[in-house]
Amino acid sequence: MVHDAWIFPEDRCDTVRMQRQLTTEERAELAEALRCIRCGFCNSVCPTSLIPEAYKPSRTSRGRIVMIQAALTGSNLDLFDDEVSELMDLCYGCNRCLAVCPAGIPIPDLIRSYRAALRRRRMGTERITRFYVETLPTLYDLPRPLRNLLFSLAPKRLIARYIGLARDVRLPVPEGRDVLEVIRRAGVLGDRDAELAYFADTYYRYVRPSSVERLMLTLRRLGYRLSFPSQRDSGILLWEDGDLERLRSVAEENVSSLVKEVERGRRVLTTSPAATLMLRSVYPRLLRTPDADEVSRAVVDVCELLLEISESRSDALALKEREVTVHSSCFSQHLDLTKKLVGALENLGAEVTSVRRECCGAGGVWGLLEKNRSVSRKVAELLIPHLRGPVVTYSETCQLQIAELYGQSVYLPFEVVAPREG
Ligand code: SF4
Ligand code: SF4
Repeated sequence: MVHDAWIFPEDRCDTVRMQRQLTTEERAELAEALRCIRCGFCNSVCPTSLIPEAYKPSRTSRGRIVMIQAALTGSNLDLFDDEVSELMDLCYGCNRCLAVCPAGIPIPDLIRSYRAALRRRRMGTERITRFYVETLPTLYDLPRPLRNLLFSLAPKRLIARYIGLARDVRLPVPEGRDVLEVIRRAGVLGDRDAELAYFADTYYRYVRPSSVERLMLTLRRLGYRLSFPSQRDSGILLWEDGDLERLRSVAEENVSSLVKEVERGRRVLTTSPAATLMLRSVYPRLLRTPDADEVSRAVVDVCELLLEISESRSDALALKEREVTVHSSCFSQHLDLTKKLVGALENLGAEVTSVRRECCGAGGVWGLLEKNRSVSRKVAELLIPHLRGPVVTYSETCQLQIAELYGQSVYLPFEVVAPREG
């Protein structure tokens, strides 16, 4: 265990060793940690700092930043030993702390910079990242019959174990069809008349395209037309891993395709908060190009679109549930989408009985992994007992996690809305 006494042992300063640990560039990237005043505000919102097991300071958000400070200021703390890297892994990039740090430290970015430094020393790409970023897209390049044969033969439990999923987590098994088929079948695929360009990202593109079927039918009924430009996944897993080199190449490819859509006057529709975050704020920061800025401004998140529709065409839509609890996911909070979602549901006649802001512990795919599962479930324990009735959450992994632990109906925002009959 890393103890506080190790953190600033002035009599054990070893600057030479510290220099060996961090390059000049890495020290510059991590230097924001030096501004930390150790107020602990980040601990008060950090999901993994709020569970009882986080009573030791080094298991908290502040503890992680203080460890980086220590490495920068000459302690002999080995920032890259297994114990420290496990503590750093307790940050899953939810972004909740960004809103409260009085020093304005971009805490999740710091942890990503740390992970990038760790990768340079010893860590390869996480298996789950390779599976979703490399294997699935490669399979989808195969002819459909061959792809479906492979999916039907694949030993799913073994794959789940191989990529590190926890035993109580069901592998989100790819359905075998492509989201383009769903769009076509719904009759919403447009040509020159399309006003929205759909950016599907990994889950809706490869894993559960059927999740957006109802949305596509709704959009068609309302007269929308969609294009489906060439695209790769958003790269959120690469971002979390600190693999900025590969992320840059993914971002460039997506931006170069999407900007052509924007030049045709189309908005870019996203149906996951991770995709919205990447296109709207990460790509522009990473690429710093006018095209990335243009794409960023054109993004319309599905919660925003539903709000727009509910304000002008509420008579055209019906709800599957009348009373719902809204779970406000981490990225929905960061992107300020929860009130738009609640507004849309209320405009359509739903009674939102409560809005729960506690984290469900999924943290993207972080909480679905065996190595993080016990902490993930403890984080979820602060949310699940407060849920009542059907739940609407805006995040595909939050939906998986809450459905698994809550056992009642859990919907994505666009699964609870349908075109009104007649
Ligand atoms: S909120 Fe900011 S300044 Fe306060 S302990 Fe956390 S990182 Fe440090
Ligand atoms: S990004 Fe989330 S998990 Fe990471 S330190 Fe901030 S609040 Fe905690």
